[in-house]
Amino acid sequence: DDLVLKANGGVMPEDDAEASGWQERVTPGRFDGRTIVVTGAASGIGRATASRIVREGGRVVAVDISAERLEEFAASAPEGQVVAVAADVTKQDDIDRVVAAAGGRIDGLANVAGVNDDFSPLAETSDAIWDRVIGINLTGVFKLTRAVLPGMVEAGRGSVVNVASEAGIRGNASGNAYTVSKHGVVGLTRSAAFMYGPQGIRVNAVAPGGVATGIPFPPHVSEAGQARLTPFQQQIPTIATAEQLAASITFLLSDDGVNINGAVLPSDGGWSVQ
Ligand code: NAD
Repeated sequence: DDLVLKANGGVMPEDDAEASGWQERVTPGRFDGRTIVVTGAASGIGRATASRIVREGGRVVAVDISAERLEEFAASAPEGQVVAVAADVTKQDDIDRVVAAAGGRIDGLANVAGVNDDFSPLAETSDAIWDRVIGINLTGVFKLTRAVLPGMVEAGRGSVVNVASEAGIRGNASGNAYTVSKHGVVGLTRSAAFMYGPQGIRVNAVAPGGVATGIPFPPHVSEAGQARLTPFQQQIPTIATAEQLAASITFLLSDDGVNINGAVLPSDGGWSVQ
């Protein structure tokens, strides 16, 4: 549509990923016996990740602030494989409820929930935007990771995957608050990997480029946001599907990523090397 053409110079169709013929290939049993907490599970990348883990045998504690869409997802999963917890990742009481709902050991955590800042430059960033973006994208990741680590330390194993962004590894991919929040996620990932690696816990991040989801990223930004896009931001080489991101996230989350700790994996169709 119009927005897609504007954002990508008419080069790439929105369903580029599907047009490429890529198909999700699940690994049956990869998460057998595992309990994985996934935030942002009601939509986009989080939902695709939770869905894949379920289809690979795992039990998912699905967390999202959007209770209705979360219930919809839980209802679509086989009985007993999804525990839905409507929760705000910025609130400690909610985090405590998530850990309690797991009802025992948590083997993995995918911190996917996040919000965008509509590409606001710093001088136009209100306190409300700053607090919301940093609160959800960074403080939420800190709070939930802090809550699951003690159990992982006790078990001597665990895997955490944080969803950063292209904006976590370069300065020109998004607005200021969002870029700061995602650089923070990268810092948290590396430092936690360093601190907890010796105790058998892996902490990695995935840095998506453009993904067709509910979040307003190019090409899905408001008109004001469109006007702020830099030439770099308009040249995302591919718009991935949420399922393609789930493939990267579940790779790091599962034992397939056994030898990987503290990595920040771009999953962006090569955007980061342009
Ligand atoms: P999305 O909007 O489809 O999903 C985000 C989910 O997070 C929503 O279901 C929303 O309800 C939930 N959420 C928001 N605030 C919350 C809170 N306080 N507590 C709990 N849940 C909350 O967007 P998406 O694209 O799937 O985003 C997932 C992650 O991917 C985000 O961290 C985002 O920054 C990152 N990302 C996305 C893109 C992209 O192009 N879509 C690119 C780079 C990074």
